[in-house]
Amino acid sequence: MKFSILAKLFSNLENTSKRLEMIDMLAEFFQDIKNEDHFEDLNKIMYLLQGHLVSNIKQFKKMGVAEKMIIEALSLHAGIGKKKIKNILVKEGDIGATAEILLTKKKKQKSLFDFGEKSNSEIESIDIAELYSQLRKIAKTEGEGSQDSKLGILRGLMSKISPLETKYLLRIITNTLRVGVSTQTIIDGLALGFTGEKETNRDIIEKAYNLHPDLGDITTLLAKKGLEEVKNVKITYKIPIRMMLASRVPYSEIITRLGTPCIAEYKLDGERLQIHKKGNNITLFSRRLLNITEQYPDVCQVIRQNVTAQNVIFEGEVVAMDPFYEKMRPFQVLSKRRRKYDVKEMTQEVPVCLFVFDLLMLDDIQYINKKLPERRKILEKIIKEKDELKLVKSKRIHSTDELLEFFHEARNEGTEGIIAKSIKEDSVYQAGNRGFLWIKLKGLEGGKLKDSIDVVLVGAFYGKGRRTGVYGTYIGAVYDKENDQFLAFTRIASGWTDEIMESLMEEINNYKQNQKPKGVICEDKPDEWFSPAMVIEIFGDEITISEKFSTLGYSLRFPVFQRVRYDKGIKDITTKAEIIQLYNAQ
Ligand code: ATP
Repeated sequence: MKFSILAKLFSNLENTSKRLEMIDMLAEFFQDIKNEDHFEDLNKIMYLLQGHLVSNIKQFKKMGVAEKMIIEALSLHAGIGKKKIKNILVKEGDIGATAEILLTKKKKQKSLFDFGEKSNSEIESIDIAELYSQLRKIAKTEGEGSQDSKLGILRGLMSKISPLETKYLLRIITNTLRVGVSTQTIIDGLALGFTGEKETNRDIIEKAYNLHPDLGDITTLLAKKGLEEVKNVKITYKIPIRMMLASRVPYSEIITRLGTPCIAEYKLDGERLQIHKKGNNITLFSRRLLNITEQYPDVCQVIRQNVTAQNVIFEGEVVAMDPFYEKMRPFQVLSKRRRKYDVKEMTQEVPVCLFVFDLLMLDDIQYINKKLPERRKILEKIIKEKDELKLVKSKRIHSTDELLEFFHEARNEGTEGIIAKSIKEDSVYQAGNRGFLWIKLKGLEGGKLKDSIDVVLVGAFYGKGRRTGVYGTYIGAVYDKENDQFLAFTRIASGWTDEIMESLMEEINNYKQNQKPKGVICEDKPDEWFSPAMVIEIFGDEITISEKFSTLGYSLRFPVFQRVRYDKGIKDITTKAEIIQLYNAQ
């Protein structure tokens, strides 16, 4: 498929905020693909629609192209001064839109004088496959002279495509391709386009996606083999499944929600791992579904030696421990294990224990649809407990009093609190869902916000006095799932040491933008803007109605920085809907 067709779709999608219109556009697009019967680029199309170059369970090598280089390429390609480009960029806030405006203007001027010039629609465009191969080249080019080579490839690409395509090409390269359509909407479009029916069939596709979170693969299967095959999608070893998450409700409602008896488990303060064991081969997936096996060679070894099942997929929380494996250490200590170098030394400096809490698959049998007690029973059978490997502490609960007693015990042990879980017949593992079969409890006092909130940093103000030259205040945004936007929520100015502040600044400067990034809604005017990338966890006093952050309409009193959440993607942060829920619960 030509890239121009996709660019047109992106543009149409961007020009509407109505979800139903988006679904219809997508459906029509997929219907055309179906009628023409050519599916070879379908994978890439789906990833691009999701705003990525590759599936979200894989990582594409960084392009290594700075905004400065794009301005240079644009200037050389169109014969426009860099200053002019920068001026438009400040106004537009997006290099893609800037390029489109300038190139379209240039074309119009040219065609007034040059009748031989091709119009936009006559430009031949390039195949999506060719676009990918050029992008790969850009990413691979390293070392001396690489900047010139990258510039050359970029200019070559620009010369083959229209202004509209250039807009999206540049967004792809700068990792800001966000068309504003959520995965839910894409799935609705897929159902309608490929099957003609949305209401039931979208759930079938979503279910398959939860078990195999690669929308490219699922769509290709749907296109080539039809919905019946999509129904048969199963968990596959070495492909992570989307994780089940917990909701929050006031503690007095937990028992009513779950019924009795239920169970409660310690909520440990570490990193979630989904473990795929195939014989001696172990793969560890993070909360973001990325392969992080190399970070934990010691965990892999302990699994090889102490999990008796040959092939199994299970989940647990890996927690930093003191050298005698008696006390759990906070997440901050565990985060030292994120380093890519000195892994071996780190395994000694920060010993860990894996606390297992769920079973998803054993040999060829899926366990996600079985009730929790059944899953736990198997875990008890296949896990030989030792210092570095344990089952998470779990207790049967019959009343709110018992629940609270267990909560205090958990807190005294240095955990974050508890997760209460249903053990009824329908207590299945709900892949990719934040439902009410798992309810987390981190704090008790009513009124005050006792749970943390995850925000993505979108802007910062420089500090004053001792903190001159360093960011003293950040703006955190929450995610509006419906509109695929990040809405400013609160200013955060405390909770960090000078050391953390400096390292945060160093890291976030990689995402600096000259203007408010696309997809960010913020009524504040910070000194610096950042594209949404870094997620942090904050605590606060209470959620209040906000006139300042008027799009969201809520803000947080006395926010305090807790930690950076490297394990969370920007779309995994607290959502607008959750903020409203939390506000109502106060
Ligand atoms: P939080 O910000 O509260 O850590 P989250 O958004 O990462 O939450 P939640 O659904 O709110 O995810 O809480 C579930 C998380 O708690 C899991 O992802 C896991 O990392 C951690 N956890 C700790 N102990 C348990 C447990 N016993 N069962 C399930 N998850 C647990």
